[in-house]
Order: sequence, then C-alpha cells, then structure tokens
Amino acid sequence: SFHKSKGQHILKNPLLVDSIVQKSGIKSTDVVLEIGPGTGNLTKKLLEVGKMVVAIELDPRMVLELQRRFQGTPFSNRLKVIQGDVLKTDLPYFDICVANIPYQISSPLTFKLLNHQPFFRCAIIMFQREFAMRLVAQPGDTLYCRLSVNTQLYARVSHLLKVGKNNFRPPPKVDSSVVRIEPRKPRPQVNPKEWDGFIRICFIRKNKTLGSIFRIKNVLSMLEKNYKTLQALQQLQDGSSGSTNAEMDILGLGDSKEDHSMDMDDGTDEEMEVEDGDADGEASEFKQKVLAGVKERDYSEKRASKLSQEEFLHLLSQFNMAGIHFS
Ligand code: SAM
Repeated sequence: SFHKSKGQHILKNPLLVDSIVQKSGIKSTDVVLEIGPGTGNLTKKLLEVGKMVVAIELDPRMVLELQRRFQGTPFSNRLKVIQGDVLKTDLPYFDICVANIPYQISSPLTFKLLNHQPFFRCAIIMFQREFAMRLVAQPGDTLYCRLSVNTQLYARVSHLLKVGKNNFRPPPKVDSSVVRIEPRKPRPQVNPKEWDGFIRICFIRKNKTLGSIFRIKNVLSMLEKNYKTLQALQQLQDGSSGSTNAEMDILGLGDSKEDHSMDMDDGTDEEMEVEDGDADGEASEFKQKVLAGVKERDYSEKRASKLSQEEFLHLLSQFNMAGIHFS
C-alpha cells in the first residue's frame, strides 16, 4: 500500500533505472545522495556504481524496507539511510544527487540544491514533464518563465530522458522527465533579493515590452519608494563610505545568507496593470531615469519572454548603476 500523499510512485522498469544511472555518469569514487529511495530499486544500482550512497527517505516504513533489503549484503556498509524530510534536513556531503521525488517538492528541492554549498558535480532528477520543460526552456520558448531564468542563473540545465507514466507503479497522472542540473562555478554574484524583485517585474507580463512594463504606475511608484529610501539612508551615512550602493548590490554584498526570496513558483501576477498617466514629455524626473535605463540596447522594445540571462543581468546592472533598486 503506497502513500499517494507522499508521492510514492515506484520505478518498476529496470531498463529505465539502468538508463538513469548510466546517464548520471557516476564514478566509483562518488558519494551519491539519493532523495526518496522508496523500496530501493534505484538505490541498488547506485550502490553498484558509486562508492557510497546516502539516502534520505521520509516514510519510516520505506526506511525499514530499504534496510531489510540490503541487510547482510556487501552493500550494507556503503549505504546510509537518513529518515526525514529532505527539505528539513541538512544535506550531507555528496558529489552527485540522484532523485525520483514526489512532485509536490519540486520547487523547494530545486531551490535547496541550487543554494547548496559546497559545490556538487550535478543532480539528476525526475520531475513532472511540464516542470522539467520550464527548467530547461530557453528565451523564446513558450515555457520560458521566472523558473527558467532563476534556475539557469545558478545552473546549467539539460533534459536527459522522457519517462512515460507506465514506468511507475502506481502510475502517476502526468508524464515525467529526467533533468540534469549542474551548478555554475563560480556561483554568479548577484544580490538574490534584487535579482528576484527585478525578474518578477520583468515577468509581470512576459509578452509585454519592457518599455510598457516600466511605465506601469505601481512599478514606478515602488521603484521610486526604494530610490527615496536608499537616498535617505545615504544621506544619513553622510558619505562615510567610498563605494556606491549600486556597486555593493552588483557584488551581492550586504545580503543575508539565509535569503529565501527566490520563489520558484511561477504564478502570473495579475496586479499592477495601470500605466502611468503622464505622457513621457512631462514625465517625472524619476520616470525619465527609469526609462533611460530601458532605452539602452533597445530593451524597451524587448520582452522578458525573449531576453537572455546575459541581457537580464546587464539591464539590472544598468538600473543599479542609476541608483534604481528592486528590493
Ligand atoms: N526512488 C523510488 C523509486 O524510484 O522507485 C521511489 C520514488 S517515489 C516517487 C518518492 C519517494 O520519496 C517515496 O519513497 C516517498 O516516501 C519519499 N518522499 C516523499 N516526500 C519526501 C521528502 N520530503 N523527503 C524525503 N523523501 C520523501
């Protein structure tokens, strides 16, 4: 009796299990982190190729079944099972992560792995097909969204395998895909809050031009509020420091280590639609400053749905250098 609520869909096709393990490129010296080992079909193959498997499993019954399965075999001293919720567990050291996870934890798990230090080589993860396609989507693809941009800031992501429902028992409602996530080294130095605030605004309407998004009244007033707050702070500091806030933010200084603002869900925000009434001729000084930022490299005519990582980073740094901030 499997628990639907824990996303227990067991891989029953041994050829598929082989294929996942083979595509993972595990070396005989690797410590493998497996998330959600279940009854251990994948675990067994991981033990055959790796040096060590550390498995994190939520369901105590599964933990028992797993331990029973490998008890008295040569594998037992190379397998460590941790019972718990992977999202609440401090991850042990690992070289490579392999996971067939319950799909409800896709976003937070991806986020956790992207923020994990020290660097691991890669993670090979089974996701719901649509989620996987969002992760790997490129500028111009229909599914290109905040999730794609945020993930690809920190990792190279590639699609490895399409997996039909019938490879699982019981079969889930949706098709799946195996994806490879490889952290970028060195880690890009952006202020995560600043980046998240910026990307959220760009994707308010991903098919609208940035020129029209940065004319929306609430966007402008939010940016102006940040601007004034920072100016007031700077006046308080009374020129005590040589470096500007813009420089600090590009370097990612001064942000807290435990920042969880990079929300991976991609609900389309419906608010903030009203355009600022002024014709640009009589636009406020602040509005002109913002629009000058998007004029650069013709960003005002471009849309988030087609903007590359490099363009997002560049546009954000343009804004920051003009003292415009998103957090
Ligand atoms: N790896 C096995 C396989 O491929 O046959 C089982 C995969 S099944 C889709 C997901 C497994 O993750 C289940 O065993 C479930 O109990 C476990 N699980 C669910 N939520 C979890 C969590 N938050 N942390 C760790 N394991 C979890």
